[in-house]
Amino acid sequence: MEAVKTNCGKGAIVCMKLLSVIVPCYNEEENVRDFYDELFKNAAFFREKEIEVELLYIDDGSKDKTAERVRKLHDEDERVHLVSFSRNFGKEAAIYAGLQKARGDLAVLMDADLQDPPALLPEMYRYIEEGYDSVATRRVTRKGEPVIRSFFARLFYRLMNRISKTEIVDGARDYRLMTRQVVDAILSMAEYNRFTKGIFGWVGYRTKWLEYENVERRKGETKWSFWKLFLYSLEGIIAFSTVPLTIAAVMGALFCFLAFVMIAVIIARTLLFGDPTSGWPSLVCIILLVSGVQLFCLGIVGQYLSKTYMEVKKRPIYLVKEDL
Ligand code: UDP
Ligand code: MG
Repeated sequence: MEAVKTNCGKGAIVCMKLLSVIVPCYNEEENVRDFYDELFKNAAFFREKEIEVELLYIDDGSKDKTAERVRKLHDEDERVHLVSFSRNFGKEAAIYAGLQKARGDLAVLMDADLQDPPALLPEMYRYIEEGYDSVATRRVTRKGEPVIRSFFARLFYRLMNRISKTEIVDGARDYRLMTRQVVDAILSMAEYNRFTKGIFGWVGYRTKWLEYENVERRKGETKWSFWKLFLYSLEGIIAFSTVPLTIAAVMGALFCFLAFVMIAVIIARTLLFGDPTSGWPSLVCIILLVSGVQLFCLGIVGQYLSKTYMEVKKRPIYLVKEDL
């Protein structure tokens, strides 16, 4: 609760808390205003709890009129802010930028497409008042999502939780209200390859999970193709688990063991039955299998190496073009 109180200096007459609402946007021109309207439907609640709001739209290099729409909102309402990236850096970068820019005692991450209903905010806030450091949401249904996508998503979460010590909750959304302390903890993880769902789990703190039914995107199209999601899942695995490396090592050991057994078998067989030259098909199979496994393991190592390579370059996570 400490963070919530930070604006209440001694002698302050009113004790307003600042809530930063962070909205990553990529080609969301149709949703910018809808989101604003929907968020401020909670105006009575904000007033009652003496919460001041700053609304940060992070324009992740949109090619449509997203920035223009936000600029217009900014002219109408000074609580609205815009940070525009120089190009599309991805939602993870937008989240990081938003958290960096946020000045609030509390911060909340929300999608622009209204899949994260702002109507949940009062309930989330209640748990912060109760003393939770962060209130997270997960959707319990995946209604309106392609069946194959749901299947692979479930598979990913099951696998991920097997091979990673960091807890990653199935159906967890990035929609999360957190205290300044948690925001600072997340910001302290300045890694280049960002997998926010894992980072949230990694930092810990007392987290309350709220469940809700999936809401379909208001307007526009999802920015995630199946392939993009697949690559993102690999990112998650590599960022939060080294089990694939262990698998590679174990597989190597297993094949060595197998080789020794085969050597023993062949020597014994030659001594007992002589050496009729045959068996090139089996030889071809063995060569293919073993070289396949070798390349596969090399690939795993390569994945970690490439991530390490990107980390050591220390490139900025995002570049700003405009900051209102
Ligand atoms: N988004 C972003 N950068 C990207 C892709 C998406 O900032 O490169 C934003 C997008 O504008 C939206 C949120 O991330 O506010 C979630 O994206 P989307 O709704 O497409 O994902 P889904 O809900 O289908 O998983
Ligand atoms: Mg969405």
